[in-house]
Amino acid sequence: MIKQNVSQILNELPNGIQLVAAAKTRQPEEVLRAVESGVKIIGENYVQEAERAQEVVGNKVKWHFIGYLQKNKVKKAVTIFDMIETVDSPEIAREIDKRCAQIGKIMPVLIEINSGQEKQKSGISPENTEPLITEISAFPNIRVMGLMTMGPRFGNPEDSRPYFVKTKKIFDQVKKLNLPNVEMRYLSMGMTNSYKIAIEEGANIVRIGSKIFGERVYGATTRAPTP
Ligand SMILES: *Cc1c(COP(=O)(O)O)cnc(C)c1O
Repeated sequence: MIKQNVSQILNELPNGIQLVAAAKTRQPEEVLRAVESGVKIIGENYVQEAERAQEVVGNKVKWHFIGYLQKNKVKKAVTIFDMIETVDSPEIAREIDKRCAQIGKIMPVLIEINSGQEKQKSGISPENTEPLITEISAFPNIRVMGLMTMGPRFGNPEDSRPYFVKTKKIFDQVKKLNLPNVEMRYLSMGMTNSYKIAIEEGANIVRIGSKIFGERVYGATTRAPTP
């Protein structure tokens, strides 16, 4: 089933759109199956879960961190991920910069926007995005490569559109600033129920879980227990 799902998605995705398989709560063998079916990037919400999956899948694919990053997990995270999509504060950026300096790595990151201004969600508010990116651009071991957003979760994906439009607008504004260490190339938006609309509104990374692996017991916005 994973194979058919991945093939269908890859066949339908327009050129230039990268698929991230959102793997939270899945077994390493399921992740491997997705990779054997053509997935090139795995998205992980938990450092520990990523380590388990990497033991089976290896480094023939790229690994993106897409969850909430705790400061005490940064040291490990910078060694096992190729991109961190969820940077939303100077504090977490400072820690990433420090840990990357120690291992001689420059970490590509996306800035997570709380486009729905939801209290319970992580991400920087739209109006504070420019100042945050300006601050982060001073860290030599971080490259800001674009933006990521979840947006509020709706039954009708059409309701997500305004939040994608808003995030794209911020993306374009930041791009115009031409900040050092900032290369606005990726816009990561859209999940199983909303990715087609996200692409219409400018996404070039989509993060898809259920449509690849099947329904999860836990929703996209609730935190699953640490495995
Ligand atoms: C779970 C998750 C997804 C994928 O959600 P689906 O609805 O299963 O496609 C995408 N992005 C993030 C950050 C997630 O946590």
